[in-house]
Amino acid sequence: MSSSHLTVVTGGTRGIGAAIARRLAQAGHTLVLGYARDDDAAYALRDELTSTTDVTVVRSDVTTDDGVEALFAAAAELGTLTGLVNNAGATLHLGPLASTPTETIRRVVDLNLTAALLCARRAVIAFDQAGVAGTVVNISSGAATTGSPGDYVHYAAAKAGVDALTLGLAKEVAGRGIRVVGIAPGTIETRIHADAGDPARAARVAERIPMGRAGLPDDIAPAVAWMLSDEASYVTGSTLRIAGGL
Ligand code: NDP
Repeated sequence: MSSSHLTVVTGGTRGIGAAIARRLAQAGHTLVLGYARDDDAAYALRDELTSTTDVTVVRSDVTTDDGVEALFAAAAELGTLTGLVNNAGATLHLGPLASTPTETIRRVVDLNLTAALLCARRAVIAFDQAGVAGTVVNISSGAATTGSPGDYVHYAAAKAGVDALTLGLAKEVAGRGIRVVGIAPGTIETRIHADAGDPARAARVAERIPMGRAGLPDDIAPAVAWMLSDEASYVTGSTLRIAGGL
């Protein structure tokens, strides 16, 4: 199988990332899917997608230079990189900033913001080396523009940084045809909430969502696929909010 799209998706093995991977596989992308710990989820998704496209899963921590390099080295084995989805993220703690441990703040900024910067930098270098007008999609959050008071200000601050990454890098590389865009989901039903100690969060927040339900990963994935497609070739620097009206 060969494809003109080769895309790295960080955190691409479960939750929103897995939905993105499935959608991109349908659209004919060759995929490198990164993850941190959950081998079972990664191998199951790889086995599921193998009949549709070429897919490699890479266990590596994207907050480290070596972890980032491992992802892009795997991509180089498969061909010429055309896309990156900066999706790996976590909130890790729910509560006011005053109750948020230092280590949690550092880990959340590292994963949601620093890793996105490291991966975006590496992708742009790969695009430039190959002379490719590639695309970076940054998964932000509605929290970046609400601040999420009382819930996770630490995470909202990191995601606001991601929005600035989208805007600034888009302008920096636009002259080379490289696009940088964002998607800001509202509350989506994934394990991210249980991992922050609040498995009922999506159901609870649903009461405040104008469309009356929390989102699903499949509510996000088509927009990512569109952002990576030629149909979005004049879209750069902007972040699309997908939040059921919240
Ligand atoms: P999940 O918790 O379901 O999945 C997170 C993914 O990131 C997993 O694949 C996980 O790997 C991977 N990951 C975690 N830490 C690292 C690391 N250090 N290095 C590499 N990979 C890592 O999250 P969601 O699907 O909910 O979230 C995806 C994105 O969407 C995140 O950026 C999140 O902030 C954003 N988002 C989510 C919302 C929601 O309500 N769910 C709302 C708004 C934004 P492993 O499986 O191995 O642990």
